[in-house]
Amino acid sequence: MKREFAVIGLGRFGGSICRELSEEGMDVLAIDTDEDKVNEFKDIASHAVIADATDENALKELGIRNIDHVIVAIGDNIHASILATLILKELGTKTLTVKAQNDYHEKVLNKIGADHVVHPERDMGRRIAHNIISNNILDYIELSDDHSVVEVKAGSKMRGKSLIDLDIRAQYGCNVVAIKRNRDIIVSPRATENIKESDVLIVIGADIDISRFEKHLVVEED
Ligand code: ATP
Repeated sequence: MKREFAVIGLGRFGGSICRELSEEGMDVLAIDTDEDKVNEFKDIASHAVIADATDENALKELGIRNIDHVIVAIGDNIHASILATLILKELGTKTLTVKAQNDYHEKVLNKIGADHVVHPERDMGRRIAHNIISNNILDYIELSDDHSVVEVKAGSKMRGKSLIDLDIRAQYGCNVVAIKRNRDIIVSPRATENIKESDVLIVIGADIDISRFEKHLVVEED
């Protein structure tokens, strides 16, 4: 089923959202004040129009009220991003995702009712930092300030052992929610599942518990 989206601000971030949604067959209205940007997206999005998102009438004329999900990806101009968010909220946008430029911007956006506030540079920076710190952590998604989901290489300490043998939940307070094995993904693995050295475990838990789990079971001794 096609769902309607609008992406406001066609910089690198908004532009890539617009491209992906369009490639997935979604109906996307692409909006920017910059004519060159709009031209770039003419053949990618369903509609691409020049408009200023801080102009309430312009948004109304575009029928933004009928669009389920609006993504505000205006970067540097924090004032415009906040104003556009306020207007869209007042116009009754069902779901509003907004890119924040810094922590204060994020706070304001949450206060004025943005449904999802994303902070791509900060989040990607954190993910990369985690990957750099630990060779074993392949990916990291922050769920809250103190909980995450990580992908870790199983390694030799877990080889041939089952989840029961390792007793990860009781010992470390975290859960293995899936195992990636070659091209397969075993979702909610059975407790008796034997782990292979080359497996990648997807683990959810408090950061402090994941860190203990990683130190004891994942890090290889030299
Ligand atoms: P990125 O890192 O994603 O490239 P950025 O932080 O550099 O983003 P900007 O270039 O500041 O972001 O803004 C993204 C886009 O938003 C630009 O193409 C800009 O023309 C557009 N934009 C800025 N203000 C408005 C506005 N009021 N209405 C619509 N589009 C706007």
